Amino acid sequence: MNKSTCDILIHNAQLFTMDPDRKIYSPGAVAITGSRIVAVGPDAELRERFDASKTIDAAGAIVHPGFIDAHNHIVHTSCRGIFGGGHDAESLPVNFADWKASVTDADEAAATTMAGIEMLRNGFTMFIEPGSLFSTEAAAEAVERVGLRALFSPLYLWDRGESFEAIPTLASPSLMARATIDHDRCIKELDAELHRNKNTDALVRGYIFVYGEGTASPELLRTAHACARENNVPLHIHAGYLPEGADLYRTLTGRSHLVHLQELGFLDENTVVVHANALDADEEAAVHETGCKIVWCPIAFFSLGITFDITFKMAERYRRGVCVSLGTDGARDCTPGETMLTAHQVAQSYGDPVSPGTLLEMQTLNAAAAAGLQAELGSLEPGKRADVVVRSARSSEAYPDNNLVHALALRLRAGSVDTVLVNGEVVFSGGRSTRVDELEAYQTVSKSVNERAERLGIELNPEWQIVNG
Ligand SMILES: [Zn+2]
Repeated sequence: MNKSTCDILIHNAQLFTMDPDRKIYSPGAVAITGSRIVAVGPDAELRERFDASKTIDAAGAIVHPGFIDAHNHIVHTSCRGIFGGGHDAESLPVNFADWKASVTDADEAAATTMAGIEMLRNGFTMFIEPGSLFSTEAAAEAVERVGLRALFSPLYLWDRGESFEAIPTLASPSLMARATIDHDRCIKELDAELHRNKNTDALVRGYIFVYGEGTASPELLRTAHACARENNVPLHIHAGYLPEGADLYRTLTGRSHLVHLQELGFLDENTVVVHANALDADEEAAVHETGCKIVWCPIAFFSLGITFDITFKMAERYRRGVCVSLGTDGARDCTPGETMLTAHQVAQSYGDPVSPGTLLEMQTLNAAAAAGLQAELGSLEPGKRADVVVRSARSSEAYPDNNLVHALALRLRAGSVDTVLVNGEVVFSGGRSTRVDELEAYQTVSKSVNERAERLGIELNPEWQIVNG
């Protein structure tokens, strides 16, 4: 039999396909040509079938489709250690919104580079950024340099300010000066990122994120919906973040947020509602009636301190067929790699567990669907893009190897990744970025954050004394 050729063959793997049967080939292999997967199957069969220009021996380690972070304000990763848990920074001279507004293009590039490397180190190959970048160009350049994928929206689409009363630290004069609460601006900028989608090979693509939480007029919501549908991109919105915000929306408009969104025709199967922590029964019905998708941000949820005020619905939504995916939101006290474990613990604490396999579906297939890219990403199947993560066989957390699904969903995090391919290119190998000098990137982001803090008059006093030698 004549052998076929392929560019890369990853073999000797515990290969998670995330195909419709959720097959795990053990040992398994995946063949890649160009940016796409050409075959997946038993190791012996693929080695027989293919002559590869390059082979990668996974040495018996887990290999899986790149995780996708369905909601990550990527630049806010750099405020770790300054703005902690939630919105608890009363002791600082500025609030979280001032911090957001103080960013320069160079700060955004530095933060995105650092957070992007962290994504790869945690087995992520893509994130969805919710319109909080002032320079999408600087961030896109950083994403492409690191070798990730991302989805970008125009800057803060909002044209109403009354709802910020419920979450005051999300607003400030400095932020509103840079991202004006202005209907005309929003309408003009709605499609600003969609030009990226003309290049079907682009790593950074565009979509529309309406900030939400009561900050959008019905006209903005209708126009954004029409624009998203016309351009065949997903439409995301924050809703049901905090009970206070949900209550204020009802007071201001006479109805619940999602019920209003349903009335306006905003909710359908291509609309993605981010958070959905605090929904009432009518809003819950709107989710099921419209088929909208949900992004669950369990770490953000925990950090809000609302666990006693809400009824936990994520597990039930998933069981009833809602496409629930997982997001980090802002990695203020965490890394994206902790999301599945936290989701597992949140669900356990409410007595409505979510299985490790379900968590993996939420972080791969369902997150790809939230990005509108389910035909391209989320599983290792022939025809899909080759976004592949090879874990290290030397990760102690992977053992015992009796339950691979448990290991991948709940135990393997940063430090367990050996090699990452994005779009068929090796962007991380031997536990290191092949694209950027990581130490230089980390020094750059630290310097950028120190300088921002100084500009804002924030004293970075550590809890314990640092003695410089
Ligand atoms: Zn968010």
